Amino acid sequence: MQRRDFLRLLGTGAALGMMAPFADVLAAGSVTMPGNTGANGRVVVIGGGMAGTTVAKYLRLWGGTGVQVTLVEPNPTYISNIFSNKVLTGERTLTQLSYKYGALTSRYGVKLITKSVTAIDYVTQQVTLNDNSKLPYDRLVIAPGVAFDALPMSGTAAAQAKVVHAWQAGVQTTSLQTQIKAMTKADTFILTVPAKPYRCPPGPYERACVVADYLKRVKKGGKVVVLDANPGIQAEVENFTYAFKNIHKNITYVPNASISSIDANTGTVNTSVGAFKGKVVNAIPPHRAGKIITDIPALANVGGRWAGVNVLSYESAIPNIHVIGDAAATTQPKAGHIANAEAKVCADAIVHLLRGEAVNPSPMTNSACYTPITNKTASWLSVVYRYDPVTGTMLPTGNGVTESSGINKDNHDEMLKWFSNLMADTFA
Ligand SMILES: Cc1cc2nc3c(=O)[nH]c(=O)nc-3n(C[C@H](O)[C@H](O)[C@H](O)COP(=O)(O)OP(=O)(O)OC[C@H]3O[C@@H](n4cnc5c(N)ncnc54)[C@H](O)[C@@H]3O)c2cc1C
Repeated sequence: MQRRDFLRLLGTGAALGMMAPFADVLAAGSVTMPGNTGANGRVVVIGGGMAGTTVAKYLRLWGGTGVQVTLVEPNPTYISNIFSNKVLTGERTLTQLSYKYGALTSRYGVKLITKSVTAIDYVTQQVTLNDNSKLPYDRLVIAPGVAFDALPMSGTAAAQAKVVHAWQAGVQTTSLQTQIKAMTKADTFILTVPAKPYRCPPGPYERACVVADYLKRVKKGGKVVVLDANPGIQAEVENFTYAFKNIHKNITYVPNASISSIDANTGTVNTSVGAFKGKVVNAIPPHRAGKIITDIPALANVGGRWAGVNVLSYESAIPNIHVIGDAAATTQPKAGHIANAEAKVCADAIVHLLRGEAVNPSPMTNSACYTPITNKTASWLSVVYRYDPVTGTMLPTGNGVTESSGINKDNHDEMLKWFSNLMADTFA
């Protein structure tokens, strides 16, 4: 796929899972909300991230006034993980990556409750909030993102506190940024990558590249060691292999490196392929679905870690409960763009179900990801998925994953547009 085809795809992908056309996003200020479309019911959405915010918006936009949507999210502001690697290098601030829920409530009529859900009673169909109040639902959508396993670590509490993942943008991002800023050209940055599945398959390799780039540009030296628990690079193999060998020769990539322990006092990471020492240890632990899902074994029915779903509607093993975004086990990657796409398939399905209609039997979704390689260049990947009735899964169409044929400034410029379009489609 050529870059122009990819951009055309982004621009025309309103069909269900894909992003709304640029024109729709730009005209969102004048959007006309439908009246009653025949869909009636109470939908509670847990989690106002990339998936939950999108589903809340599109349930109202497509379902109309009969669909009463309540979004429960503890934080008044969402901080985007996407581009948070650029916070580490000082190219962005967390404030620039912060999004509020004003448009969701004022433009689309979603009710926002700034609390968290502590329990789900799927027999009586109600959720309990952290103030002990209850919220009944006809359909529940859960989009809590991921939780992280504890890593085997020793050392003083202060030393352990410095070993962060920064894989959920926020205070850990600031901590890691401070530690990277304090590095000298004689220092090594160690990044550990968990076994898949983890959120944003290209994300760790992107981080290795932008940190390596920063160390060369700003510190005039410094090394990055990538300890990957997987047998090889998990996304954009050609571009990252090229970048590690030719653009960032200060990166050492080590596959099959499962962590056995971390000594935070000395910055030593012991792995299945040896011990590695660094000034800064950025350890990304294995992931699982958010706690509200793993608390309920019937929901976390994929290895006790992820929620199995029917990808025609994202309904889980428990009737009337849908799971979208990183917490769902599907054949699609755990990424913000696909979370937005899954949310639209789910919103469309719920609107049909509330009308007593059948859901779309052949949904399509699109995953796209731009990756900064330096502060001025980027690469990208894209996949279009279509429902496969034989396996009951979403399978890549055409040639599968397409990588950009180069790493360049044009891609970096387009990346900025892609990001603002995705975030506008989610939060505006
Ligand atoms: C460094 C990095 C770079 C990335 N880059 C990209 C990229 O370039 N492209 C891309 O597509 N993706 C990227 N991603 C991945 C992307 O950020 C995630 O896949 C995406 O955020 C998943 O969306 P989600 O809605 O499932 O989870 P989240 O966005 O994490 O949202 C979950 C929300 O649920 C809330 N929540 C959790 N539990 C509860 C509860 N009990 N009650 C109420 N609310 C709750 C949380 O507060 C949170 O707001 C990147 C990730 C990282 C870490």
